[in-house]
Amino acid sequence: MANALGLDVKPVTEYAPEEVERVRNWINSADYKEKNFARQALVINPAHACQPLGAQLVAHGFEGTLPFVHGSQGCASYYRSTLNRHFREPAPAVSDAMTEDGAVFGGQANLHEGLENAYALYKPKMMAVFTSCMPEVIGDDLTAFINNARQKGCIPADFPTPYANTPSFNGTHIHGYDAMLLSILQTLTEGKKIEGRCTGKLNLIAGCDFNTGDYREYKRILDAFGIAHTLLADISETFDAPCDGNYQVYAGGTKLEDTADSINGKATITLGPYATPKTFAWIRENFAGEHASMPMPIGIEKTDALLLKLAELFGKTVPAPLKAERGRAVDAMTDAQQYMHGKKFAVYGDPDYLLGYVSFLLEMGARPYHILCSRGTKKVEKELRGLLDASSYGKGCTIYMNKDLWHLRSLLMTDPVDAIIGDTHGKFAARDAGIPLFRFGFPVFDRVNKHRYPLIGYQGVINMVTEICNKFIDIRDETCEDRFFEMMR
Ligand code: SF4
Repeated sequence: MANALGLDVKPVTEYAPEEVERVRNWINSADYKEKNFARQALVINPAHACQPLGAQLVAHGFEGTLPFVHGSQGCASYYRSTLNRHFREPAPAVSDAMTEDGAVFGGQANLHEGLENAYALYKPKMMAVFTSCMPEVIGDDLTAFINNARQKGCIPADFPTPYANTPSFNGTHIHGYDAMLLSILQTLTEGKKIEGRCTGKLNLIAGCDFNTGDYREYKRILDAFGIAHTLLADISETFDAPCDGNYQVYAGGTKLEDTADSINGKATITLGPYATPKTFAWIRENFAGEHASMPMPIGIEKTDALLLKLAELFGKTVPAPLKAERGRAVDAMTDAQQYMHGKKFAVYGDPDYLLGYVSFLLEMGARPYHILCSRGTKKVEKELRGLLDASSYGKGCTIYMNKDLWHLRSLLMTDPVDAIIGDTHGKFAARDAGIPLFRFGFPVFDRVNKHRYPLIGYQGVINMVTEICNKFIDIRDETCEDRFFEMMR
């Protein structure tokens, strides 16, 4: 037996070809599916990432901010490389590189040295500190450590250093996003509320969204309305900076000054209700103006809801160009409807994305047949159920909460569908099932520029319809008999 370099290697274990074939067939069977779904103490290929990864994403969304990982260097490399592979952009962050001695004596010394060095070397305007699992397991006290760092002069007394506990054994990237965003807002808005002041601006929270095209689309929609806004937190430049020969460590991000003044806004909307529940609860208590929590605007209905809410909050009518855009999106759906109608899909991802995919599929007359949420709550399940029950295309569709992509594989092999919507991790199951995977989530490692195409808004509808339907048409062209190979499709 030879390896990829053509060198002879001795197999660790050898199995008879018949045994390999037997197992290959067995893992596709209903019997195996039953055992797979009975599994309790093991997760295989989860459809989520670590808490700190979400914390790092949100930190990148603020001007001059250096994400700072209190914990293991390997963990920090994982978040950085995941973001880097998805966006194909650098994701600069530092780690205080805790090792065995940190695990025994606590990580305060690492944190202090790390803060001092990072402040001196990288000259950030803010450092956002979050934890990996190790300091969480040993119970490091971030509040005390950071106060001590200020007293020792590792960082200036007034240097903004928000921090969040982000233990990955108790949550996913969306929870880390929430915890870090909350801390950043609490830190920057402290003492900034001015009685009677109103910036007249909208604070828009996109939620844990890894699509830079979506952020640009929000800004375009708000500009079309003529609504002044502060996007919290804006990663559109950070992870989609122009290639002009100059590397900027801190490209883009929401201005710290604007963030501080966001507490005096006219209104605040979160479009990632499941990625920002704690942040939004705090905003309700502390931010001036009106507050609204809405679903991510994926699909026509959810986009309509956002536009109508903007019109209501700011006393405006929906601008004519956006109305025309809606008409074009509906036209695109109508033209393409025959290619998606009745098709069965498996969908998985974060709750906010998932609700959008399901809504969009039902609008197209497609069936979100298997719906998997890797870390979901009863509330998410109820909301998904509500969408399915409200449409005739939702009949017979099933929601699987807290299941992973190995469960998904069993579903695909025993109760097949036509396609999958999810992130790159589903490509193995898609290949085994012989169906296309539409990569609309996070992370997408194996396709280019996906994050630049918005999923939200009417433009997002057109993008998704186009990608999905053209793929189905490609498959037909590639697999049909010669006599059915037509110019027209
Ligand atoms: S699960 Fe914990 S230990 Fe593993 S990479 Fe994530 S933060 Fe690090």
